[in-house]
Amino acid sequence: MSYTGRFAPSPTGPLHFGSLLAALASYLDAKHQQGRWLLRIENPDPLREQPGATDQILYTLDTYGLHWDGEVIYQNQRQDYYQHLLEKLIQQDLAYPCDCSRKQLKLRNALQHYDRHCLKHPPDKQAQTAIRARYTLENLCFNDRILGIQQANNCVQGDFIIFRRDGLFAYQLAVVADDHAQKINQVVRGADLLQETFAQIQLQQHLNLTSPDYAHIPLATTADGQKLSKQNLAPALENRNPAIELLQALRILNQELPPEPLSQTVESLLQWAISHWHIERVPAIQSIPIGA
Ligand code: GLU
Ligand code: ZN
Repeated sequence: MSYTGRFAPSPTGPLHFGSLLAALASYLDAKHQQGRWLLRIENPDPLREQPGATDQILYTLDTYGLHWDGEVIYQNQRQDYYQHLLEKLIQQDLAYPCDCSRKQLKLRNALQHYDRHCLKHPPDKQAQTAIRARYTLENLCFNDRILGIQQANNCVQGDFIIFRRDGLFAYQLAVVADDHAQKINQVVRGADLLQETFAQIQLQQHLNLTSPDYAHIPLATTADGQKLSKQNLAPALENRNPAIELLQALRILNQELPPEPLSQTVESLLQWAISHWHIERVPAIQSIPIGA
């Protein structure tokens, strides 16, 4: 089957160096296997979207030579499809309403692993509730292409939210729906999403979908181990020296560098990187300090 991969940024801010690692690794892995590399803007939550961030992301990807294939998909335009899958799950009793507040969950010590309170005490039919999907897989394992065999922690994995009480579709449902709709069969992304994979595989099984292969690259952290993220205001990529930052990203991904790296244009650097890409060389660790 031909390779289809993707990059799926959330437009909560501009891309930073950590996002570049995920974009570059997924791009190189796809192109090395003559695959397609699709772009999906994950904006199901209008309140978390930063005005202008989507345009900035598209511009930055272009500047770094990471040209996507086909049309960009926007999650805020796909509600009907998510609704269809949500109803299917509810009809098959694979998902159910839950109106527990955070406070209640905390009091019952059910924040990490949901205690199925609302299965025994269903919320009022008229109430605006969240919807949880059942998590029934025991000892689920998957073989990550970088990190090797990963096993779910059954104490932590529990029934999870796929529709939020505020009326928005949750990340887990949207990501599974769109990975399927876009025929994604290879996911390469940051290791901050490693634990989410178990819920995603569970949803794929509920919906009878084939799971893609997963590869989680190390998450870039600051020198003192803090996650580089939009939340801690990691500096945005500046678009000024893309070749230099691409080289730095290749170095962190432990890839071979061209003989005369500094004279390379973005295009020639990426061509080199595509043909010399070895996913086996990516460090099999969940985080990596980059000294920012
Ligand atoms: N939108 C998610 C993020 O920016 C990534 C989702 C994914 O790659 O599965 O963190
Ligand atoms: Zn509940």
